[in-house]
Amino acid sequence: MPKFGVARKYANDVREYVTKLIQNNIDAYEMGFAYGIPEKIPEEIIDFSKKYGFTLSCHLPFWINLGNSNDEKNINYLVKGLNVAEQLNSVAVFHLGFYGKKKWNEIKYNARDIIRRALELSNVKKAKLGVETTGKQQAIGTVDEIIELIKLIDDKRVIPVIDWSHIYARNNGFYPYKYKDFVDILEKFEMELGYKPFYFHGGGIEYKNGNEVKHVSAKKLEPPLPYLFAALKELNYNDFIFIVESPDSIEDIKWLKEVWKTPEEYFDRIPSKKAIELI
Ligand SMILES: [Zn+2]
Repeated sequence: MPKFGVARKYANDVREYVTKLIQNNIDAYEMGFAYGIPEKIPEEIIDFSKKYGFTLSCHLPFWINLGNSNDEKNINYLVKGLNVAEQLNSVAVFHLGFYGKKKWNEIKYNARDIIRRALELSNVKKAKLGVETTGKQQAIGTVDEIIELIKLIDDKRVIPVIDWSHIYARNNGFYPYKYKDFVDILEKFEMELGYKPFYFHGGGIEYKNGNEVKHVSAKKLEPPLPYLFAALKELNYNDFIFIVESPDSIEDIKWLKEVWKTPEEYFDRIPSKKAIELI
């Protein structure tokens, strides 16, 4: 079964918050380290989560930027994140940062080397480093870039994090839009990397000029997640984590769990896009 989870800043009330999530039948929590990365997560939280089959993962600060050359700082963040992920036996998600004046081709080898160095220094065994697809034109992280980088690094500990809302915003709401678009993206990752991606972000998103503006309810069906769910089922994806970022994630997850049961029943609610239908 897929695990649906929320993203929220890591704070002092983590014990109460995890309890609340479990009581609401939420399966996972991606802890956002907005203010820096803790040395350790209290063992009590980890044990408690394990007892309920609840998955913890984390998101590293947005200060990481592999588009510039402050390599020591970047490596330091990645190492700390990998250590926490090792403790959680889970994923540390991060964004690659911004192109600035550079092109992807001028960034990718340096990004590869920084990530390899962080893996070497942390020497983690179970941790995964998740490289996320981004939702802004200036932010490094298209589908092709993420795939290329993961292949360049060539280390099983580095995995893709597919943020469906980000891809959709970056393509100004035109892709992925059709059922087949979702199948194509999933098949591309699987074919290029040799395994099924298993860590996703999604929800509803508002966008403008190919940039994300803000997260909104998944019920807006932008992107049309029922198509994604149908594609996942068709391609036999059963074991993955889906982190929902929206103003009321708990409510959205309750709804998405219903959608997961019978995605095709929601197809006729998907907003139509005339321009796409003309293609
Ligand atoms: Zn992210």
